[in-house]
Amino acid sequence: MMEKLSAKEFDANYKTILEKLDKALLKTNKSPSDVILLAATKTVDVDTINYAISKGINFIGENRVQEFLSKYDMISPVHKHFIGHLQTNKVKDIINRVELIHSVHSLKLAAEISKQAVKNNRHIDILLEVNIGNEESKSGFASDEVLDAVMEISKYDNISIKGLMAIPPICENPEDNRQYFKEMYKLFIDIGDKKIDNSSMDILSMGMSDDFDIAVEEGANLIRLGTALFGKRIYY
Ligand SMILES: *Cc1c(COP(=O)(O)O)cnc(C)c1O
Repeated sequence: MMEKLSAKEFDANYKTILEKLDKALLKTNKSPSDVILLAATKTVDVDTINYAISKGINFIGENRVQEFLSKYDMISPVHKHFIGHLQTNKVKDIINRVELIHSVHSLKLAAEISKQAVKNNRHIDILLEVNIGNEESKSGFASDEVLDAVMEISKYDNISIKGLMAIPPICENPEDNRQYFKEMYKLFIDIGDKKIDNSSMDILSMGMSDDFDIAVEEGANLIRLGTALFGKRIYY
């Protein structure tokens, strides 16, 4: 769990983030309204999340199905995304609640999301997760597989591809990830240019607490922030 955060600490964290974001945006042609700030709320208690929402957070993302479900009804109505590793057999548990799944890492998972969406008469938006650092420990499509994956998954029923997501390697210096963010942006633009039916490259979800400013400079329009907003997590 996390230590409970005071309102004052949250306010200060949020202010710092918005200032850093503004600075990064100056190096782009985007304005603050072009970038979604999603709060990564794993381990964060419902009261703290609702406080954050009262302060202007409109998007939250959870990592684990169980935690997503247990908090879901108590969290104020905002956009609720799933950002963690999703197992095929858990798709049915979130299909009626989730608005966007960031972390679609295989055709098999996409097929199951489609199947459950059809069954529940839902339409689900997804992002494809790209294993941009080619790490064995991480799931996601390799960069040279993404286009084929978009072409295949875009044929599935009741599912729309809205963009790409990545978690670059953990590194000491956030600048080291700039190259990965650049590669992601290039993929995002190149795939978007192909204008594949039933897919659009609208959302580029990348950048976390340590490197969101660099991600935004390189073209991210959805950043996922946990620690920077809520403080250090004691576990995962
Ligand atoms: C936890 C998490 C984040 C936020 O990480 P911080 O470094 O705490 O900002 C972002 N994305 C995903 C997928 C996460 O699991």
